[in-house]
Amino acid sequence: MTSTYFGDATLFDGRIVRRRHGVLVEGGQIAWVGAHARAPREARAAASVACEGRTLTPGLIDCHVHLCFDGEANFVAEAGVTEAYAAVKCIGNAARQLAAGVTTVRDLGGFGAVVCEVGKAIEDGRAAGPRVIASGQALTITGGHGWNTFARQVDGPDGLRAAVREQIRAGARSIKIVATGGVLTPGIPVDFAAFTPAEIEAAVEEAHSWGVPIAAHAIGRTGIDNCVRAGVDSIEHGAQMSQWAARRMKEQGIFQVPTISALLGIVDHPEDVPAYAVAKGKQILEMAHEVFARAVKTGVRHACGTDAGTPHNPHGSAPREVIRMVEWGLAPLSALQAATANAAELLRLPTTGTLERGMDADLVLWESDPLDDVSALLSPRLVMRGGSVASALH
Ligand SMILES: [Zn+2]
Repeated sequence: MTSTYFGDATLFDGRIVRRRHGVLVEGGQIAWVGAHARAPREARAAASVACEGRTLTPGLIDCHVHLCFDGEANFVAEAGVTEAYAAVKCIGNAARQLAAGVTTVRDLGGFGAVVCEVGKAIEDGRAAGPRVIASGQALTITGGHGWNTFARQVDGPDGLRAAVREQIRAGARSIKIVATGGVLTPGIPVDFAAFTPAEIEAAVEEAHSWGVPIAAHAIGRTGIDNCVRAGVDSIEHGAQMSQWAARRMKEQGIFQVPTISALLGIVDHPEDVPAYAVAKGKQILEMAHEVFARAVKTGVRHACGTDAGTPHNPHGSAPREVIRMVEWGLAPLSALQAATANAAELLRLPTTGTLERGMDADLVLWESDPLDDVSALLSPRLVMRGGSVASALH
């Protein structure tokens, strides 16, 4: 059994920071965490990583990616490949995630069961990558946002129930509904309220009966309100969130996953992103910023999600999303929690997201302290996934 001891680290354990700490990894799991000066005997026999005060954190978690997409300027055009070809793209994108320090991703929509299968192949050790929590295909109304890219079209409460069951059968461990219009599908206003309350309720009830979280793509106010009332686990994007919804989200423990990177990737690149998408992105940018800052003040909890795969938003961008959440008003400690402990709670993952005894050894050692300067997240020194070093500088 290989074991590794990380000595004299500044430890962010997913919730708080402790100085001069040590972490012992044995057989893929964390065997001990405590003061470096009181390291157990086993630490001496282990391979040693001298942290010299550098910061050690849990591996980052990105709660919103699309592994089938690379982040090219035209999202719809990128969807024109076979499932086999998409699977190959997923493998490359998974490797990019891991190299950036992301040890878990949740995919919120791809082709058929491609991402479910890629996740299994990674778990079986056939390819390098993060833990993949797949949602299969996203679920959207007939002609709704994503119908021509990452979603399956479905209507009516019974249809929703059947579609959720299909995704679970294919290996999904999360469900995604597209509750409103979106930026990247032509011909649908972003704030269009898509599924009816009864449809949303059916999907939520069915997902929860299987014990999996349900994420709602929701931009417009009415759609967000409907999803909050139905008790989804996260509002993805949430640009037009009302104050009523923010308060309810805080009370019910519903997370906001703001996906700032997706919006900026579109509005900052009018030179090659389709004009309809740039126009819709610009329409919600200012409000998205204001709503995020207000949600932070209201006490809504956040989880990190990039929407990687959308235009100019490549895989491995969770560090940039954390930086952007800080720029938009979240405290650095809360932003790091959003990408670790909060994200694991949202995804219902009991063995990652924090560095504690018994957890999977998913961790990252950084060149400098991200709590001192959050841009340090762009420089991982060593990435470990399940006890194996996935990438290291030295
Ligand atoms: Zn998305």
